[in-house]
Amino acid sequence: MHCGAAVKHAIVNPNVALRNTGRLYFCFRSGLASAPASLVSQKSYGGSCACPRLNTLSRSGVRCYAAQQAPPADYARTDFTSDVVKHARIEAQRIPCLSDNYAWLLTDTETGKTAVVDPSESKPVQAVLEQRDRKLDFILNTHHHWDHTGGNIELKEKYGSKIVGPAADHDRIPGIDTALADGDTWDFGSLKMHVFDTPGHTKGHITLWFPEAEALFPGDTLFVLGCGRLFEGSPKQMWSSLRKMIPLPPSTRIFCAHEYTQSNARFALHVNPDSTAMQQRKREIDAMRAQGIATVPSLLRQELECNPFLRPGDPGIRRSLGIPADASDEDAFAAIRQAKDKF
Ligand SMILES: [Zn+2]
Repeated sequence: MHCGAAVKHAIVNPNVALRNTGRLYFCFRSGLASAPASLVSQKSYGGSCACPRLNTLSRSGVRCYAAQQAPPADYARTDFTSDVVKHARIEAQRIPCLSDNYAWLLTDTETGKTAVVDPSESKPVQAVLEQRDRKLDFILNTHHHWDHTGGNIELKEKYGSKIVGPAADHDRIPGIDTALADGDTWDFGSLKMHVFDTPGHTKGHITLWFPEAEALFPGDTLFVLGCGRLFEGSPKQMWSSLRKMIPLPPSTRIFCAHEYTQSNARFALHVNPDSTAMQQRKREIDAMRAQGIATVPSLLRQELECNPFLRPGDPGIRRSLGIPADASDEDAFAAIRQAKDKF
């Protein structure tokens, strides 16, 4: 994420339910937070754009948002490919957004129903819909961050789409119609979507699983060779969220929401330098990125083999980070996450 040079700060009361005015605020440095303008008092917070991790909830109980309407001029747009992945009855088209986000346009090939997962902005999604002469039945959000919900209102207004998102963060999802929680199922055309609560990155994060299509949308919980930062949750919560994914079929495709793979691979090899699987994986990833090929989706099988955040018991990782052999997986996970934060 880039941070605009002239970012003003604003303060919003986090206890007030957010209404949908369509005006969203966003900190480009952290990727955090959205709030309708009507709830934001334009008090200057002063100084440069401090990381909201420091300001998320200050002693006075206010939340800090960077007030900036549009990406800064030097915002580098991604040039990643917009491929279509077809499997079973689902077709998923990768739509590159912002600098490194992916929105996913889903089509149930049996009924023709369409949905977009985590649209950070509306224009690239609209461009694909127009190109393919499609409408948009649903918008699915994994969590409230602006770079996952920024396109909600414009798309909803244009296509009359229904918005589906996490019940635990109902108040922070712009335009939400249907709130889902752990264990819920939801019908997307002929496909059944299962929901896991996966808090850690944010309080109300959900992960979406289409078992028949072997497709998992973990938002910012699981990345290719990585996991999301712990903005609103504890290592314990994040580890219990990630553990829910481990027993899924290894052939499950992981449609995460960012292209962070190359930097994740550097860390994954750094903490497990003797792993031949990881050495090989990093070579493959570097070759793909050198050719501008997107690395998402990956397969769960590949993540189980190399992703350090799914392998807290790995003796090689424990050795390189000085984690005792008898430490719990939860404590080892916390140490791995902390090492990544400093990497
Ligand atoms: Zn996020």
